[in-house]
Amino acid sequence: MTKLTAMDCELCNPASELVLWQDGFCRVTLVDDPEYPGFCRVILERHMSEMTDLSAPERARLMVTVFAAEAALREVLAPDKINLASLGNVVAHLHWHVIPRYRDDPHFPNSIWAQRNNGAKVANGAEPRESATGPGAPGRGAPDTDRLARALKQRLG
Ligand SMILES: [Zn+2]
Repeated sequence: MTKLTAMDCELCNPASELVLWQDGFCRVTLVDDPEYPGFCRVILERHMSEMTDLSAPERARLMVTVFAAEAALREVLAPDKINLASLGNVVAHLHWHVIPRYRDDPHFPNSIWAQRNNGAKVANGAEPRESATGPGAPGRGAPDTDRLARALKQRLG
């Protein structure tokens, strides 16, 4: 596998994305995923792949943004849990996933990249509720993006 360069990186050259907040160092975008309303990404502007490519103050700055996104999502969506993940195996450009999770979402309690529950028993042995098999959850529509943007601005300036 060839190493991805900034030239063909989809995070350096996004086709389209909904930016909720940005400051030139990083940006917070809302992922368009109806099954995971409120799924955000915190994306470093520079094309670097690992946290340890950054200086200590830069790492701290990035994490302040990740935690602000977590706090904003908790305030606006009140999910059962927040998942934070930095994988970058497919797109080796440093970014954090900030994912609101619900007990009845299609993968709970596993990661959203794991196999879907599909009505099978969930890991803790409990039967998933009916809604775990359908796309998204009933009544949980697209998040209020203006409110999310305001909640981020309130924390990050
Ligand atoms: Zn990139």
